[in-house]
Amino acid sequence: MVKVRFAPSPTGYLHVGGVRTTLFNYLFARKNNGKLVLRIEDTDFERSKKEYEDIIINDLKWCDIDYDEGPEKGGDYGPYRQSERLDIYRKYIDFLIKEKKAYYAVYNPENNEEIIYKSFEFPQEYSDKEYSISVKFKVPENTKIVFDDMIKGNMEFDTEVFDDFVIQRSSGIPMYNFTVVIDDYLMKITHVIRGEDHISNTPKQIMLYDALGFEKPVFAHIPLILGEDKAPLSKRHGGTSVTFFKEEGYLPDAVMNYLGILGWTVENEIFDFKDKCKDFDISMISNKSVVFDYKKLLWVNEVHLRTKSIEYITENFKNWLDINGKSVSADEEYLKNVLNISREKVSNLKQLFEFSENFFRDDFSYDEKYVTLSKKEWFGKVLEKSCEMFENNDDYSTEGIEKVLSQIAGTGITGRKNVYQTVRGAILGKLVTPGLYESISVLGKEKTIKRIKRVKEELL
Ligand code: GLU
Repeated sequence: MVKVRFAPSPTGYLHVGGVRTTLFNYLFARKNNGKLVLRIEDTDFERSKKEYEDIIINDLKWCDIDYDEGPEKGGDYGPYRQSERLDIYRKYIDFLIKEKKAYYAVYNPENNEEIIYKSFEFPQEYSDKEYSISVKFKVPENTKIVFDDMIKGNMEFDTEVFDDFVIQRSSGIPMYNFTVVIDDYLMKITHVIRGEDHISNTPKQIMLYDALGFEKPVFAHIPLILGEDKAPLSKRHGGTSVTFFKEEGYLPDAVMNYLGILGWTVENEIFDFKDKCKDFDISMISNKSVVFDYKKLLWVNEVHLRTKSIEYITENFKNWLDINGKSVSADEEYLKNVLNISREKVSNLKQLFEFSENFFRDDFSYDEKYVTLSKKEWFGKVLEKSCEMFENNDDYSTEGIEKVLSQIAGTGITGRKNVYQTVRGAILGKLVTPGLYESISVLGKEKTIKRIKRVKEELL
């Protein structure tokens, strides 16, 4: 059975590159009826933080990436945490030392770098003094390390270029290159799909597989995401974390869609990533680095914002409000209707909030352009007429509204455009709004009249 994993280190926010790696792992697992494992690689105790782990897990949930396995936890499961598996690693460290494939290294306390003693036995004589003792893996001499990468093709490394490397720190905590091998083996990972930044680690890991007599997984290294200047995408280029895009008001499906088309050739660029599982093939991932295009992501977001079910948009909008500590007072039906007519003119949920905010409050302020408009000599008359006509009207369908507005314009007080802008600003405080008929229809009779009356009190 195919089994893959996503193995983030909780040393920072979840980077979009990491999500893209997870996405490809997810698609690969689902396509092959396999499993996806989430493993938190937190053995770097100095840099790992529980807070980042929570953010990573939360953000993966936001992306709608579900994983399949992990240790039992009160009816729930997972994720695996390397910090909870230290006893397991210890056994294999001991095994390598016993086999004379790894050794204890004692360091000069003056610089903690120079090795002053090496041994396959624990150097008891140094143990109670101020010495650091690590365990180093003995790199085999004159050996070629060869592997066939699913994306990069045939890779070859000479062991000459590697020095013996530390597999267990002097604190007794094992290092990444070691734990990753033990875990991938014990967790029966068949394919290691990860970022290209790990390619230099792979030969070291292969040496460990061989030394331990473990069967190796297949490797696939995904090219990195770059910024416009071709340097790896980082904060210098703009937001790079899922948390950032979440707070900015991107939709999870749009982010996943965009990461999917970044370096993966597909015919139709807009899709739901879960529908893509059956089409997924690793060979479709480009072997070239890709440049993150913020404008294109915004476009993808816009398309999803306009075409997804209004239920999906509403759910994500509410989620966005929560994340940003905002709220709107509206019942579900009203909220959906407002979002539905507002989403045509915006690109993300943040803009959607700003654009629709005045639907949810009666005490908004009027923008400057509207205040200027209110100084026109016809303004009061249009307002008066509108108030009267909307009070006498009971048809608040868009057709009904259109009729009323045409009748007001037909009175000849001023031109049609002026009439529309007078009413528009009255009901929403600004001159750029969703369609006027739709807006009035969604607001309904009571709110519309109340708002027109408010202008009379405040601006006339
Ligand atoms: N923990 C590693 C990282 O965060 C990933 C290791 C791997 O995928 O092998 O970069």
